[in-house]
Amino acid sequence: MRHDFIRYFAKFGLGRTVSRSRDRGKGRLISRLRLLAIPIGLLLLASPGRSQQPRSLDVDAIRAAVERALSAAPRGLQRLQSPSQAGVRLLDVGVEQTGGASHRITIDLSQRALTYHPAGDVETITDHVLASTAGLTASSHDVEYRFLVDGLPLDRFLPDPAPDRRTGTRAVGAPGRVVISAGHGWYHDETAGGWRLQRDYYWGIVEDFVNYDIATHLLAELRALNIDARPARNPDRSAGTGLSGHSRWEESAKYYIRDLGAPASVWDFGADDYSKDINSRPFYSNWIDSALVIAIHNNGGGGSGTETWYDTTNGHEAESRRLAEIINRRIVNAIRSRYNPNWPDRGLRTCNACKGENHWAKRPAVIVEVAFMDTRTPDNDALKDDAFKRIVAQAIREGLQEYGLVAATPPPADDLDSAARREIGIRVAYDERFRAPIDGSFGVNLTWDPAWELRWLDVDVTGNRRVRVFHVASRANRTVRYIGFSDPDTRSWIGWDRIS
Ligand SMILES: [Zn+2]
Repeated sequence: MRHDFIRYFAKFGLGRTVSRSRDRGKGRLISRLRLLAIPIGLLLLASPGRSQQPRSLDVDAIRAAVERALSAAPRGLQRLQSPSQAGVRLLDVGVEQTGGASHRITIDLSQRALTYHPAGDVETITDHVLASTAGLTASSHDVEYRFLVDGLPLDRFLPDPAPDRRTGTRAVGAPGRVVISAGHGWYHDETAGGWRLQRDYYWGIVEDFVNYDIATHLLAELRALNIDARPARNPDRSAGTGLSGHSRWEESAKYYIRDLGAPASVWDFGADDYSKDINSRPFYSNWIDSALVIAIHNNGGGGSGTETWYDTTNGHEAESRRLAEIINRRIVNAIRSRYNPNWPDRGLRTCNACKGENHWAKRPAVIVEVAFMDTRTPDNDALKDDAFKRIVAQAIREGLQEYGLVAATPPPADDLDSAARREIGIRVAYDERFRAPIDGSFGVNLTWDPAWELRWLDVDVTGNRRVRVFHVASRANRTVRYIGFSDPDTRSWIGWDRIS
């Protein structure tokens, strides 16, 4: 069956384009069809300040990539026939240029796509298709994917609405609460009868753990500001072995959230363990009524650089997009100024419910795809470097502050002793070598320097060692504080880390 995309846009796309133009206040109530007729030169003039040359994406290459993806089974389903062998058809692919460097890619699949996965997890196919196009969309800074199933938007096929997820016993409405969701982790593959990581190793590292490292740094950053940051995976590297037979911190979010006491509707919703894990993260954020959800991921599909995803169908599109724009810009700017001046900015990506991690969050939610696991240089190389991961975490924290996230209770400005104790404790909590602070070791020197107050706390370190962790606060502005210490193994000074 041949599909006429002009008809689809008239039906589903045109109204959205017009209303979004209105939202931006540009008053461009131009129909898509007329926009197509405007010469490229005018499009250039209409979008000043773009450093990238507007380019249309290669629709034939995208179509061919999607066809290739459908002719190979997605990861985890290799024992099945490929989607195309199983009858999933690509009915059509459409690419529209919606702005200087903005595009909409419409991918229409046959209904068989809904049932290809034995348990009905459509995201397996959409992720597989999306990855196949990653290398072809680098020139676009704003891609809206629109998945159709036999001509109807994908989001219409998802169960709706989900049962009320806000019936938990926790206090709701605490300001500033944010869920930090490190993507993936061990899950139980029912059909293979074993535990698997959700992604593959590339040159010695695997996304499941790289995401966790970045999230760990981010949690420390946020907690140092007294922001109520809640991890979706077990934040304690010494929490022991879980049901999977692997460390609890390596396990997917579903198990941690279950152990927190969340109701089954939060962690047991989905086609299989894999999708239950994905869904548990946004449902957890709904349950604890977090202000935002930040999912940390790394990409695949052979591109390079950073992109940030949000969902156009979760009821919080505008704020999600604002959050995505801020965080993506902060990360790219930080990497370019502190690590790699040539780091590619892939910009924003969105879709109509193709990613449950965003879609099911009934609050602003973004997925950060920091770098490509499967591109060795510069991406995979950078992801092996702890300095890179810290830079990214700091940039996300700054982005959250720019967005407007504030501490649940402001740190006491007049009690720097307790602030120093707390901040030192948080700073070392995420380093496996550090154990507990040593009672009675806290010290203060207020005359150490004309500009700075000095405090310290000794911390017990594995191997019967003890490290003095220093804390300095600016006299002129006591919100400016740093922590520094000598690495217990190398004994070299790590430098001063800005903590507020
Ligand atoms: Zn991922």
